Amino acid sequence: MLSNVKETAFEAIDRNKEEIAKIGDSIFHFGELGMQEIETSSLLVQVLRDIGYSVETGISGFSMAFLATYGSGKPVIAVHSEYDALPGGSQIPGFTDEKKQYVPGAPGHAEGHNTNAAAMVGAAFGLKEAIDKHKLTGTIKLFGAPGEEQLVSRPFFVRDGYFKDVNAAFHVHISPEFVATYGIRNNAMMSVEFEFFGKSAHASTAPWMGISAVDGVKLMDIGWDVLREHLQPTQRSHSVITHGGMQPNVVPDYAKIWFFFRETTAEGVRELYTKAKKVAEGACLMTGATYKCTVLSAVWPVWENKVLAEIAQSNMELVGMPRWNEDDHALAKRIQKAAGVKEEGLPKQVTALAPAKRSSGSNDSGDITWVVPHVCIHFPANVPGAKYHHWLAAVAPATPIAHKGEVAAAKALAGSSIDLMTTPQLVVKAKDWFQRELAAMGIQYEPLLPAETKPPLHLNVEEMVKYREQMKEHYVNATIKFK
Ligand SMILES: [Zn+2]
Repeated sequence: MLSNVKETAFEAIDRNKEEIAKIGDSIFHFGELGMQEIETSSLLVQVLRDIGYSVETGISGFSMAFLATYGSGKPVIAVHSEYDALPGGSQIPGFTDEKKQYVPGAPGHAEGHNTNAAAMVGAAFGLKEAIDKHKLTGTIKLFGAPGEEQLVSRPFFVRDGYFKDVNAAFHVHISPEFVATYGIRNNAMMSVEFEFFGKSAHASTAPWMGISAVDGVKLMDIGWDVLREHLQPTQRSHSVITHGGMQPNVVPDYAKIWFFFRETTAEGVRELYTKAKKVAEGACLMTGATYKCTVLSAVWPVWENKVLAEIAQSNMELVGMPRWNEDDHALAKRIQKAAGVKEEGLPKQVTALAPAKRSSGSNDSGDITWVVPHVCIHFPANVPGAKYHHWLAAVAPATPIAHKGEVAAAKALAGSSIDLMTTPQLVVKAKDWFQRELAAMGIQYEPLLPAETKPPLHLNVEEMVKYREQMKEHYVNATIKFK
């Protein structure tokens, strides 16, 4: 049954469903890549201040991160969301015939992170209304977390102590389903740049005078690929060469290769990193080059709390699936047809609670989950069969499918937070489960992120500069006013 408190929150969210949709659609059209979410964070900060939250910007040295707070006392409940787009991910909403972009080559929301932020703000408003009207005790802390696709910001927040006084934390993430899970659900990961330094020379008249930094990169890449055969089958590692010289007749004195190393445990990732440094040393021995490596970020796997998952589940069931109409199902089927999967439309039921199936991916919220009970509410704002990081996953996130999903997510998130504020025993129960399971696994959390690592603010600067001016022509420019 719906309590008075939840009724207040849900009613406030419903009353503002158009404003919530405008947030999601605005961010969709900003299409900003990780670490460059300038327009996105400024919009979110402005809206959150407008609805009464006090907002600190630039936390942990990320200019496009924020911490927005409302309420007072215990429990302290954190909600966090990413809002970054993907390279080349731009797509005109609702268009399924082919990949069709507003600006050819531009970044865009091919994973729908725009909807995550909209859901978080919707919940923030519902919670504020409920706290005010029912004089609830508790503090809501909303974290704006840039650069999820580079696995960046949240381990820095944890390292810098932002979760020290938090009692429970929720993540909201787009999905084809309405679902929460518990247990470990993905991989630890480390992002490292290896820079090689050589000596330039005329590549034809005096090549013996030169040392090619690109040769260092090539040999490191080959060396890692050879070593791969002898690594655990659970590892995943991938690289891109981000600097590969300028022109053939100049022996390149600088080159760079960027690796992601993933394993099931933080310890496993540390071992991969140690081996990679040996491979880089080997490449230097062969070529005479030197190298320097810089960790850009490092995250633990995500570990979901069972008690919080049960709370989230009961709220998702209370809210129920969005009421999809014929147009929603028709769009879903067109997306599924284009994806070459079964044309089944949208799911009609909340997915049952179950232990997490472990994926080989990672999310930068991992570290949060080892310092505080945590669960992610995956909400239905995309279409089954539309795989992330493909243009078909960018078709739905600014359509009525997404708008309805954002509202459902906002309510489930607000309802779960209200449960923790009105029934403090649940906070204790979640903490008990956390401590018991941690002891049973024998795991002690130690950040994988090196203490000296600074936010990699350089990521995606050039790519965004290339497209931003043209993308501005397609901004929504909506006035957002919660009532
Ligand atoms: Zn994501």
